[in-house]
Amino acid sequence: MAHLLDGQHLAARVEQEVRERVEAFVRARGVTPCLAAILVGNNPASAVYVRNKTRAAGRVGIRSETFHLPEESTQAEVLELVERLNARRDVHGILPQMPMPPQIDPEAIFERLDPRKDVDGLSPYNAGRLALGRPQLVPCTPLGILALIRQTGVSLVGKHAVVLGRSSLVGKPTALLLLGEHATVTLCHSRTENLAEHTRRADVLVVAVGRPRLVTAEMVKPGAVVIDVGINRVDGRLVGDVDFESVREVAGWITPVPGGVGPMTIAMLLQNTLQAAQIQVAADAPVP
Ligand code: NAD
Repeated sequence: MAHLLDGQHLAARVEQEVRERVEAFVRARGVTPCLAAILVGNNPASAVYVRNKTRAAGRVGIRSETFHLPEESTQAEVLELVERLNARRDVHGILPQMPMPPQIDPEAIFERLDPRKDVDGLSPYNAGRLALGRPQLVPCTPLGILALIRQTGVSLVGKHAVVLGRSSLVGKPTALLLLGEHATVTLCHSRTENLAEHTRRADVLVVAVGRPRLVTAEMVKPGAVVIDVGINRVDGRLVGDVDFESVREVAGWITPVPGGVGPMTIAMLLQNTLQAAQIQVAADAPVP
């Protein structure tokens, strides 16, 4: 039976650590880190996500502001808000909550974001740095995934890590982080042939697809670390992409859904916001 990787518990520890570091930063620099969330339209799930993130910020002493624009906002209006927040010295992190209404191009928003305030790590600058092996602000969910894998104590060096899903938000940056840890990485996606042949060779399997119970016990190597990123609503219940009940009989470690990757994503956002404030305050510091 697999050990459970408890994201709730680890996230609480990370929060505690971030709170102490924020306190020290405020004492040393006289600056309170601030996160600005951009919410466009009326997606109820997005509103909940933003509320959870700003509440978590409050718990660790990070200020937050939420900018709620109407559903019919134009691309120009959202970009104008991004520019305003880029220019504000008292705002250190900008979080455009996705998904946005269809008339808004998310790429254009991330291209316009000041990379020093890009706490989701999705601007071309930060994505490029990660690809070059010189990460600065890294997407929150992949950071949370790596922290959970580290919890197992299993070394990634030379191990075979298989990632399902190649999104810019989760799959691709996770594969790059694992590569940075010296794993041998296979990145699978919707066109991958013989998926199970790949997954069965994984010492570490990260699943970020968005299909309930895609991964079953026969697809998992005995003793593997299995990280389930998926969030799917089935019959009013949240389930992951991994068939938890059968896979836990085979895996060595497994994350639950909910209570696995989700809380870690928020904890890493807080960590990134503090890091963003540190980067900006250091850039402002006079040359000695
Ligand atoms: P996405 O829709 O952008 O990407 C899905 C990826 O899965 C694509 O790259 C696609 O090629 C791949 N895919 C589709 N069918 C496949 C198949 N049969 N086999 C292998 N790969 C397949 O989604 P995303 O934003 O990467 O999110 C993935 C899941 O993770 C979703 O359920 C999402 O809700 C969840 N998510 C959770 C968190 C969290 O904090 N827990 C954060 C972000 C996303």
